[in-house]
Amino acid sequence: MFEKILIANRGEIALRIHRACREMGIKTVAVHSSADTDAMHVRLADESVCIGPPSSAQSYLNIPSIIAAAEVTNADAIHPGYGFLSENAKFVDIVTAHGIKFIGPSAEHIRMMGDKITAKETMRKLGVPCVPGSEGEVHDLDEAIREAERIGYPIIIKASAGGGGRGMKVAATREALSEAFFSARSEAKLAFGDDAVYMEKYLSGPRHIEIQILADGQGNVVHLGERDCSLQRRHQKAVEESPSPVITAEERAKIGKTVADAIRDMRYEGVGTIEFLYENGEFYFIEMNTRLQVEHPVTEMITGIDLVQAQINVAAGKPLTLRQEDIRFDGHAIECRVTAEDPHTFAASPGPITEFHVPGGLGVRVDSGLYTGYNIPPYYDSLIAKLIIHAPSREECLMRLDRALQEFVVSGIKTTLPLHQEIVHNEDFRAGRYDIHWLEKFIAAR
Ligand code: ADP
Repeated sequence: MFEKILIANRGEIALRIHRACREMGIKTVAVHSSADTDAMHVRLADESVCIGPPSSAQSYLNIPSIIAAAEVTNADAIHPGYGFLSENAKFVDIVTAHGIKFIGPSAEHIRMMGDKITAKETMRKLGVPCVPGSEGEVHDLDEAIREAERIGYPIIIKASAGGGGRGMKVAATREALSEAFFSARSEAKLAFGDDAVYMEKYLSGPRHIEIQILADGQGNVVHLGERDCSLQRRHQKAVEESPSPVITAEERAKIGKTVADAIRDMRYEGVGTIEFLYENGEFYFIEMNTRLQVEHPVTEMITGIDLVQAQINVAAGKPLTLRQEDIRFDGHAIECRVTAEDPHTFAASPGPITEFHVPGGLGVRVDSGLYTGYNIPPYYDSLIAKLIIHAPSREECLMRLDRALQEFVVSGIKTTLPLHQEIVHNEDFRAGRYDIHWLEKFIAAR
């Protein structure tokens, strides 16, 4: 087992990883920018190294600095968390070349899934159902017109290198197609340095359902059920739950097996998420994330499996001893992403926290690096806390969530806590009646 792990991230996820390591008797190294000297994960880690100025490009994305920090502290593994360098295959190559273990899949698997055209092709060949669309890249407008006619409008144009909801454009008609095609291409070029785009049928009211898998690269794979992440704003998830209110045990077992078989064939190592759109009882693969997800705690709550510890064990070469029949789904879990944003305009709201009080009690988990007196820097992602609720049934989970939201106090800045309160009182949400467009409509209508 590793003796010391360097955590190449910040915020709640750095703290989450530190906690997993501490419980395994593994020492931790925090790396941080000069804006994060007072961050909780830096305070709690066994050692810390400042790796650069506030800008992410010069700190959390600064590969030479991170490698130097690992060498100086003698860390034998690096956990990348999510975001930043977590899906950067070049980083994995460099880490590996320095004799340090990257906690995650191989560079080859990251490359394969990071290119969405290759990812779709791979999954299709492995028997995973995909959204109908172009066969690979759409090179020019003529091809786009032909493909759109074949697929049928409305269509969505997506960046092959895409992520974070960028580089996606919808065209409902032939007239709207050229504008959508060229703007998707230039947005992709700007955001990812790669203008390759592909095309899919635009599904009008699907749910976003994703399957969590855990694999050891030695042929042992389990799926840990689904998460329903349909509540999104600008293609960014806001609330996630497991199990999905609309998936039956038979559907779960079937899609779970399809995915686990595909992952086994690939000889994939680590945790991963296979994302689907779900409409009229059918699953359609959209992409695979080769890392821990923000919303992983809902799966942990209903399975009792610590996904970060599982990642570390697998990375250390321990074969997975869990079998699919050992996995139990117990009760219901919901996660609310609380961000430092105005709940109406969504303008960023960094600054000093004058009071921070988290809810507690049975089935209430808060993953957050905040504390009273902490000053949220303006340079990074606006996620400040994840409130995760677990209860025997969805109904009890909603009651507990409502109660926990009432107890939650964050003063000094604006947060999206009031938005979550509105969502939890909404009849459609309570009934589980929502799709990927629901939240945007809800926000616009209030
Ligand atoms: P990213 O990697 O940028 O997050 P995804 O492929 O995961 O991109 O898609 C993000 C979100 O965009 C999905 O959760 C869904 O809301 C929407 N989306 C993507 N593809 C389609 C599609 N074919 N039809 C309708 N909505 C889609």
